[in-house]
Amino acid sequence: MNAKCVQCGGTVTDSTTTDDYRGGRNHVVLVENVPCGVCQSCGEQYFDAGVVRRIEMLAQPLIQGAVLSSGKPLAVVDYTDGDVTEPVSVPRGELVPA
Ligand SMILES: [Zn+2]
Repeated sequence: MNAKCVQCGGTVTDSTTTDDYRGGRNHVVLVENVPCGVCQSCGEQYFDAGVVRRIEMLAQPLIQGAVLSSGKPLAVVDYTDGDVTEPVSVPRGELVPA
């Protein structure tokens, strides 16, 4: 995906990221290894429409499950194989729910 950044005109290169999908009250699903494009100049991230749909497909059932069970608000799912680590009390890395 070697495109130009619409924000700054910088070069966008392929990468992966962890996307935080929010739903309901305070419920967050961290989706790891999400393919995306990242601007080398400003850091803007770009996702294909199909990627966004898969994130929603993976995260929505987890959000609903979390709401119904009133368990811990966080789950982690791997984009690549759909492997779920749930629920977890502390997310890895710098992503902390608001
Ligand atoms: Zn940019």
